[in-house]
Amino acid sequence: MKLFAIFGDPVAHSRSPLMHNSVFKNLNYKACYTRVHLKDGSKLRETFFALGLSGANVTVPHKEDAYKACDEVRGFAQNIGVVNTIINENGKLIGYNTDADGFMAAIKEFENIEKVLIIGAGGTAKALASRFVQDNLKVSILNRSENKLAYFKNFALTCQDWDSYKSSKYDLVVNTTSAGLKDENLPAPKEMIEDILQNTSFAADAIYGKVTPFLRLAKEKNLTCKDGADMLLGQGILANELFTNNELGTSDIKFYMQKSFEL
Ligand code: NDP
Repeated sequence: MKLFAIFGDPVAHSRSPLMHNSVFKNLNYKACYTRVHLKDGSKLRETFFALGLSGANVTVPHKEDAYKACDEVRGFAQNIGVVNTIINENGKLIGYNTDADGFMAAIKEFENIEKVLIIGAGGTAKALASRFVQDNLKVSILNRSENKLAYFKNFALTCQDWDSYKSSKYDLVVNTTSAGLKDENLPAPKEMIEDILQNTSFAADAIYGKVTPFLRLAKEKNLTCKDGADMLLGQGILANELFTNNELGTSDIKFYMQKSFEL
């Protein structure tokens, strides 16, 4: 029996255990997936081994610590220094990032996206910004504080904090902050969010399982919106393929993960 887990702080809200266990149970894969409330990200590696895990997912705020915890990082995660999936390969921790491709799958139906505003400058923002740049989209970043913007400035992206914000037109605005996750906060002052939503066609939030104040406002303005559930599904399918070494079919994984959303 293999054991998998998700590490985060908070982690109680995570649907990943339900999603992965639904796949393992229904497809008779001998594995179980649990959650670990980890406060100190620097303890990730030792906790992973102490629990005897075969693999893990990592959520807020430990994805950059997860990158540091790995012996080797593969694929897209190398570009961004942010890991959300870890595989135990013969005692070595191998890191991947499945968030960005999961998000791209989630917004497939949004058409003619050329200009994107990302609100937030954490791990998810880095993953999405790098993925958007790869697709030649024009990317701007807006973050509460200035200090996390340095990473994005290195890629010559337009960066603003709340003090330097200037109104502009976008096709898509994505909230990647944790504002609205445990509270009822907007990701920026209300007048700024009003202005941003007035000047975009599509809005997406990485948060799932609730209508955040950001999405509520976007819906009031009749924008085409998406919460983080499809992104969650997309990254989960890719992570499960890594956990099971592609032994299960993608469409079966998708079917049973979607079924777990009904629980
Ligand atoms: P990080 O901790 O790396 O970054 C958080 C960012 O949010 C920082 O830029 C921070 O700004 C900003 N922030 C936090 N609180 C507020 C606030 N009250 N107002 C404005 N800005 C705020 O988090 P992640 O990037 O890892 O995750 C962000 C969100 O995305 C989480 O809610 C997570 O649940 C969700 N997520 C969903 C996924 C899915 O599958 N649907 C996948 C990945 C993430 P500052 O720099 O000023 O502190």
